[in-house]
Amino acid sequence: MAKSGYPAHCDSRAEKFFTDIRWNDSRRMWDTKHPDLVSTPNVNINGTVHCIFCGNEMKSIQAGLRGFVRNSVDPYAVTGKSCICKKAMDWLEFQEKKKKLRAEHDEKVQALEQEYDHFFVNEKAITRLAKKAMESKYFRDGVLQYSYGESEE
Ligand SMILES: [Zn+2]
Repeated sequence: MAKSGYPAHCDSRAEKFFTDIRWNDSRRMWDTKHPDLVSTPNVNINGTVHCIFCGNEMKSIQAGLRGFVRNSVDPYAVTGKSCICKKAMDWLEFQEKKKKLRAEHDEKVQALEQEYDHFFVNEKAITRLAKKAMESKYFRDGVLQYSYGESEE
């Protein structure tokens, strides 16, 4: 159950998106510029944006208000829509966990590549081999003649 001043469908993780300012000592004010706000899945029906998880009307995000932006076209423009329900908060958590896992994965792959960097092309060795191939008696008509090991006659 949502705490006093928050909408009924508000998850506890979404409470931080509201300010302490209250209207008529009851409803808390939505902070459209909160830095952690990102759009959550939604559907637009006749110009009204609804949450696909709970069906409630979405709340606006105004990222342009997050700081003084010089020459900002319109800092008050609505840059996204977010819901505050449990599933929307789960979705945000899911996105964060995915992002973290991908970053960890990239780091591990990079470490592995550094560990095995001796596999990567050694240009000196390749050049030496190419020279050797061209000088070889098996290099005829621009093609290196090779065999599968059968005895030559
Ligand atoms: Zn919702």
